[in-house]
Amino acid sequence: ANHLCSLLARHAVLTPDHIFAYRPGLPNVTYADLFNGAERMASALAAQGLEPGDRVAVQVDKSIEAIQLYIGTVMAGGIFLPLNTAYTGAEVAYFLGDATPRIVVCDPAREGEIAPLSQARTLTLAGDGSGTLIDALPAEAGFDAVPREEGDLAAILYTSGTTGRSKGAMLSHGNLASNSETLREYWRFTRDDVLIHALPIFHTHGLFVATNVSLFAGASTFFLAKFDPDAIISALPSSTAMMGVPTFYTRLLDDPRLTPDLASNMRLFISGSAPMLVDTHEKWLARTGHHVLERYGMTETNMSTSNPYEGERRMGTVGFPLPGVELRIMDDGKEVATDEIGVIEVRGPNVFQGYWQMPEKTAEELREDGWFITGDLATRDAEGYVTIVGRSKDLIITGGFNVYPKEIEGLIDDIPGVVESAVIGVPHPDFGEAVVAVIVPQGDPDPGGIRDVLTRDLAKFKQPKELIFVDALPRNTMGKVQKKQLREDYAALFT
Ligand code: ATP
Ligand code: MG
Repeated sequence: ANHLCSLLARHAVLTPDHIFAYRPGLPNVTYADLFNGAERMASALAAQGLEPGDRVAVQVDKSIEAIQLYIGTVMAGGIFLPLNTAYTGAEVAYFLGDATPRIVVCDPAREGEIAPLSQARTLTLAGDGSGTLIDALPAEAGFDAVPREEGDLAAILYTSGTTGRSKGAMLSHGNLASNSETLREYWRFTRDDVLIHALPIFHTHGLFVATNVSLFAGASTFFLAKFDPDAIISALPSSTAMMGVPTFYTRLLDDPRLTPDLASNMRLFISGSAPMLVDTHEKWLARTGHHVLERYGMTETNMSTSNPYEGERRMGTVGFPLPGVELRIMDDGKEVATDEIGVIEVRGPNVFQGYWQMPEKTAEELREDGWFITGDLATRDAEGYVTIVGRSKDLIITGGFNVYPKEIEGLIDDIPGVVESAVIGVPHPDFGEAVVAVIVPQGDPDPGGIRDVLTRDLAKFKQPKELIFVDALPRNTMGKVQKKQLREDYAALFT
């Protein structure tokens, strides 16, 4: 059998007429429709010469056909390799050179630019579901999924590139299947759910969390091509769940139509991919009556921790390790004590198979005994709640002292008149690195007031040497603050 496909396709067999996707302005897609199309994709890919283990690189707008391409690739024994639609030609050239796909699927508008970048056969797929890939589909459905074992690769997913060059995380059938099954159960997804799906599908959140969990549960989705507050506001009354990045929540909070009444049919709001401010959690609770469930994961591990479904969802934390996932917080080769900071390591069926064509990097981060060093700094309290305090690469070392940006950001964010902040280290001739706070003020900034709080509450070495006021923090499509960019922007501040 094809390990992942047999699980993905379970509900196409059990409830073929159930709706997989409600799409504003477009016909509904049943489970039978979805999988018929996926089988035709698998046939077309095989006819184009796809062999088991070949990569299919895909840079396309979100559509049902793109989901069918994902399922079809896995059915045909291929390795699905989605790319962020924002990547430029030069960036795509790097990924294609690295991944050496057999087939590339891109937007028709970019065919002339993308096709020459590789030896691969290039086909097109537009957001409206047209393109040469669609022209190549056979009329008849029906495809015997190529047998694949748990350990065979189903996808190579590039990391977001927040800390450096994106790395290709090799994910097996077993990695994806085990995590989807765990999440479905942990978050109680069933056929009765209607999930608002407004995330991009080139990232683990939209593809492997939102899509796979829905398929594993036989649930329906409100399938939205992108985040659009109007579409979400109209979907909320007939939906039961939403998965989003923190910026979805902050943007919806800006909309006066968001009320407890509007969200009264909902049972679950989930957030992840970037930290959600406690302030956002509190405002969401006040405005909708729902506690957002925050979870933590990464491209390399799928999801590793989650706040509980029942039981207290503690704001500012990412909850507990998921069932089957081991988690430890390490410093200097030892597990840290309760409430102490260290680096998260995880082990379990969710942990990837290594970085594509980067054996040294794999050896550095994935221990032989299966523990993966995430690079995220965290604490665990006496009750077991894990709190992310930042990334080890964002740790500031100034005059020999460690400074954790999150501690300072938390203080600044709580000051009235501050929307949010990012604290970074930049080169400094005396201290090695100097602490700098980049702050988004509400209205006119009040540097004096902020300084007073910081002088009162922080040791001298932690106090920012410079407060910089900006209109907005740089973020990527997943809502991640781009500290690397900030460090570059302010690199010359003290030199
Ligand atoms: P790169 O590895 O290329 O630098 P990236 O780590 O941002 O990029 P992803 O795999 O998309 O790429 O993101 C995973 C990271 O996102 C985690 O390691 C963690 O730092 C962050 N993250 C995810 N969920 C949360 C959360 N709930 N709270 C805080 N951070 C989170
Ligand atoms: Mg990472």
